[in-house]
Amino acid sequence: MSYDKVEVPEGGEKVTVENDELQVPENPIIPMIHGDGIGQDVGPAAQKVLQKAAEETGRDPHWMRVYAGQSARDKYGEDVNLPDETVEALREHRVAIKGPLTTPVGAGFRSLNVALRQTLDLYANVRPTYYLDGVPSPMKAPEEMDMVTFRENTEDVYAGIEWEQGTEEVEKVRNFVEDEMGFDETMHEGPIGLGLKPISEKGSKRLVREAIDYAIENDRDKVTLVHKGNIMKFTEGQFGTWGMEVADEEYPDDEVFAAPDSLWEEQDEVDIPEDAVMVEERLADAMLQWMQLRTDEFDVLAMPNLNGDYLSDAAGAQIGGLGIAPGANFGEHRCLAEPVHGSAPKRAGQDKANPTALILSGRLLFEYLGWDDTGKLIRDAVEETISSGTVTYDLARQREDAEKVSTTEYAEAICDNIEDLA
Ligand code: NAP
Repeated sequence: MSYDKVEVPEGGEKVTVENDELQVPENPIIPMIHGDGIGQDVGPAAQKVLQKAAEETGRDPHWMRVYAGQSARDKYGEDVNLPDETVEALREHRVAIKGPLTTPVGAGFRSLNVALRQTLDLYANVRPTYYLDGVPSPMKAPEEMDMVTFRENTEDVYAGIEWEQGTEEVEKVRNFVEDEMGFDETMHEGPIGLGLKPISEKGSKRLVREAIDYAIENDRDKVTLVHKGNIMKFTEGQFGTWGMEVADEEYPDDEVFAAPDSLWEEQDEVDIPEDAVMVEERLADAMLQWMQLRTDEFDVLAMPNLNGDYLSDAAGAQIGGLGIAPGANFGEHRCLAEPVHGSAPKRAGQDKANPTALILSGRLLFEYLGWDDTGKLIRDAVEETISSGTVTYDLARQREDAEKVSTTEYAEAICDNIEDLA
């Protein structure tokens, strides 16, 4: 594909797929969206750190700057938030990294993040949540947190099937639900907004499969399916049922053990084959408290979209907040890494935001490319920098012994540590 406003970096090669396997050159072209708001600060800082770590481990990524949100409007015109070129670049190169994009509240503007995930069918949002030494946390034992959340990314209430109050469409749906489906006393009179919550067998099973495969590959003990199936039986509950079917039917028992009746019974007494990954179900509301009170009992979580959004942010808070929480979206031989946090508009353009989440998202991308040594070097250098007391404003305000530095200075300190540790 030829690009109009995007420069393809010279000397880089594409990541491709052959025989169902990702083929990764040592000089891959990696599209990058710096992002809105603090994206303009953390984007360039993260790029510098990622480049340094890659070079120190013998790789040479070629960053291809692409645009979305404000940067797209500046380059392509006021109406263009997500240029076709950007979507094509992400599709063509299979892997990419993005900073946060602003979604104004209100009508007429669908989330670009959701649009990208749906267009590229990036069905699993994965967020590892682990404690970094030196990060202030509200918990007594934050180091007990070492969890990976798998959030379904393409359906649930995020599918965007909603009708606005006062429209002809919403009245049509109301009439159908009341008159034809028999819910004539369920909805309040007067203006109403309505939405649909699709949860499919395909969406649920591929997400749970991904989580179980991850648990097997990474020596994790347990996958917990988190849903609200006691109330939403045919959507959330069905997610749990389909998930347990995957565990029960697609893997040998000595590899994956589907715990019976786990919603209502403790599993302490259950005889689980040695080395098998246990798959269990838990209700989302209870899970939010167990995550805080019994943190070390959980390992890998798999959830429908909305639960995943809430639970992964709450997990991020336990290890010190949004500024350090990384994430990545995965599809069929695709990865789009992005931090959990948003564009934090009130901190934008001040060279003060924390780039750690974006840097650690880059680590996930590198590990997806098979560059585990680069990923480890990044984590070690970030941890060394924070534990030595060089931190951005968000962590400095919670640590009296720390030196508050700018985004740029913090990234430079990490680069120095990368050099020392390599
Ligand atoms: P937010 O941008 O994540 O920011 C909320 C607060 O979290 C900030 O004000 C700041 O706290 C702290 N924070 C977040 N990232 C930080 C960082 N890197 N360094 C230091 N502190 C950080 O959430 P929001 O204000 O609800 O959302 C703003 C916009 O971002 C919205 O348009 C939203 O739709 C969008 N968003 C995008 C994504 C995405 O692109 N994937 C994700 C979430 C939200 P203090 O003010 O206390 O310093």
